[in-house]
Amino acid sequence: AKRKLQHIADRRAVTPDGKALRLEANISSMKELEIALSSGANGVGLFRTEFLYMDRNRFPREEEQYEVYRSVAERLGGDPLVIRTLDIGGDKQLDYFELPEEDNPFLGYRAIRISLDRKDLFKTQLRAILRASAFGEVKLMYPLISSIEEVRAANAILDEAKRELDREGIPYNPNMKVGIMIEVPAAVMIADLLAQEVDFFSIGTNDLVQFTLAVDRMNEEISHLYDPFHPALLRMLVQTTAAAKKSGITISVCGEMAGDLRALPIWLSLDVDELSMSAHSILHVKQRLLDTRQEQCRALLEQLKTCRTSGEIVQRLEDFSASSI
Ligand code: PEP
Ligand code: MG
Repeated sequence: AKRKLQHIADRRAVTPDGKALRLEANISSMKELEIALSSGANGVGLFRTEFLYMDRNRFPREEEQYEVYRSVAERLGGDPLVIRTLDIGGDKQLDYFELPEEDNPFLGYRAIRISLDRKDLFKTQLRAILRASAFGEVKLMYPLISSIEEVRAANAILDEAKRELDREGIPYNPNMKVGIMIEVPAAVMIADLLAQEVDFFSIGTNDLVQFTLAVDRMNEEISHLYDPFHPALLRMLVQTTAAAKKSGITISVCGEMAGDLRALPIWLSLDVDELSMSAHSILHVKQRLLDTRQEQCRALLEQLKTCRTSGEIVQRLEDFSASSI
């Protein structure tokens, strides 16, 4: 199937009525970067840095991280590279870093919470990312943000890292963009406030679905309840994008839903700027994008907003794609 679509790999991702959408890849290693590039990715919208920490028996040093971040940035040429700071805890563990036993690890000591608690580890990563920013279009992203305080505390450590690099005469991009994942319902509810503190949002639908519906994303017993098309989700997406637009910041989506063909009309109707997905989805999404009109998606959204169940939402989305093919 991929070979059949290869001819559109170099085509610009734009709808017939002129809405351009940047299609990017989620990666967690150099190997995945090469697959992403051969799949026509226009950048990396989510670099999951966990592998750098999981692949060894101690925390990676600044230099080791810097080498990797810089190689990816350079390999991408001028295309964007969004580096997400460490997102361990929950389902992701490190052998050499003992995390507390928790009854609810997904609601526990993880992601930005660990980074703000272990400032030493966090600053090492921020220095490595800053240094790599001198070699490409690097952006920084914090995971699992749920309050303004967290953003400010993280940015304060970022400022410290910058001042250190200044003193040491080490170059970095002083205007590196800083954004957050929107993956906790609290962040959606205060999206208007958060939008005033950052340069971009990236909606992490994997966790946002989990937390909005109170459905553990790893639990197969209840996987039928894990529903990205639940009307509550649609409202969250509408609210988040509206807040981003109002503040004029970039809005992206990087959860699995970004690569779901059924969801494409939603992203177009909300006028999202970037979609970041598994490499294997990129060409499929691009093919659909090339013959979907944004104008029609906008009309569809008005209908979706009136739906009372996810069944109705999915039905309308399926009818829409059947009629536009
Ligand atoms: C998400 O939560 O949607 C996401 C992209 O991050 P992860 O899957 O790594 O939690
Ligand atoms: Mg997540």
